[in-house]
Amino acid sequence: METKNLRFETKLIHSGEPSPLIERAVTMPIFQSSTYEIAGDDTGEINYNDIRYVRLNNTPNHLALHEKISQIEQGEAAVVSSSGMASITSTLLGLIGPGEHLIAQDNLYGGTLHFLKEFFPRLGREVTFFPAEDTEKLKSVLKTNTRAVYVESVSNPLLKVPELKAVIKFAKEHGLLSMIDNTFPSPVNFNPIPFGFDVVLHSATKYLNGHSDVVAGAMVSNKELVKKIMPLFNHLGGSLDPHACFLLHRGLKTLGVRVRAQNASAYKVAKALQKCSKVSRVIYPGLESHSDHVRAREWFKGFGGMVSFEFDGTVEQADAALKKLKIPRLAPSLGGIESLYVRPATASHSGVPRLEREKLGIKDTLVRVSIGLEDADDLIEDFIQALN
Ligand SMILES: *Cc1c(COP(=O)(O)O)cnc(C)c1O
Repeated sequence: METKNLRFETKLIHSGEPSPLIERAVTMPIFQSSTYEIAGDDTGEINYNDIRYVRLNNTPNHLALHEKISQIEQGEAAVVSSSGMASITSTLLGLIGPGEHLIAQDNLYGGTLHFLKEFFPRLGREVTFFPAEDTEKLKSVLKTNTRAVYVESVSNPLLKVPELKAVIKFAKEHGLLSMIDNTFPSPVNFNPIPFGFDVVLHSATKYLNGHSDVVAGAMVSNKELVKKIMPLFNHLGGSLDPHACFLLHRGLKTLGVRVRAQNASAYKVAKALQKCSKVSRVIYPGLESHSDHVRAREWFKGFGGMVSFEFDGTVEQADAALKKLKIPRLAPSLGGIESLYVRPATASHSGVPRLEREKLGIKDTLVRVSIGLEDADDLIEDFIQALN
């Protein structure tokens, strides 16, 4: 079925599905086969270019998933991989060659930031960081060998939304590729490609799969760029195995209902936390008090399922209170059906010295919550009993 002109929810269910159905199965089966017979073409000649192999990302499970993900992000093509970091590192190395330069936002996901700082230069690439809140600085870090700009649509854990319009304008003016990690909003809340970005990256581990049972990544772009980087994806070998493809494929079908419910619950929890006397500050892009609320309201369809807050007290008091939580678990990662929380100073930002953390606005008593699909009122009651 041609689904390009259908709406988002219908694409989630029907894009990339086999047509006709395979053995009349209404669900895409798992092709648990590492390799495939080399077929002859119409003339009966063997076609040795027709090699299908899991590492080449071209089995039926891969192709179905690529089509579904590219359509929901409104791109032309996609490639999945064995983690968000596999997608991010393979894409960066594939699109930025030795001797070329990347401009990246400064407060990136920890793994991406570390890769760019430690390994990018060793691999002959250059990187300069710009402050996410100051796109005026972009011009001053532009070089003759600059090839691309890299940002995240929503930052962790302060949930900041950079001036994405200014980033795209700058990239277009200087002939640069624009790349964005769209993990936090998910394609439900934001589609960067129609907005103007060239390349979209996802940790599919998070909202796309949504059930905390798969680690996967995705890259979406136009046909030409995906074709260009495919050989590197194939050689670096971070391919997603067929069973994980199946789980991600299944998880995607409920992405719309999950994320919309998480948007609604997160807003309710954020509002309730604002009224809690043990909370000195609530950080949620859906609140008018958030520094980037206006941008988020203008560009996003929803404000997401992530809420951060500062506990009013010492770190020890914060930990003692959090320990009393019955529903959310203390665990890294996000975007799943169960609520999780971390104190970023001890998790994602534990490697950043305390003074630097404070400069970034990340206090030791800051708590980041990934809102799941539990009843929002149960979550609120749980936070109130624990924090008070
Ligand atoms: C988790 C995450 C990643 C890394 O993804 P993995 O699937 O863990 O490799 C990259 N970017 C963002 C924004 C993330 O939250």
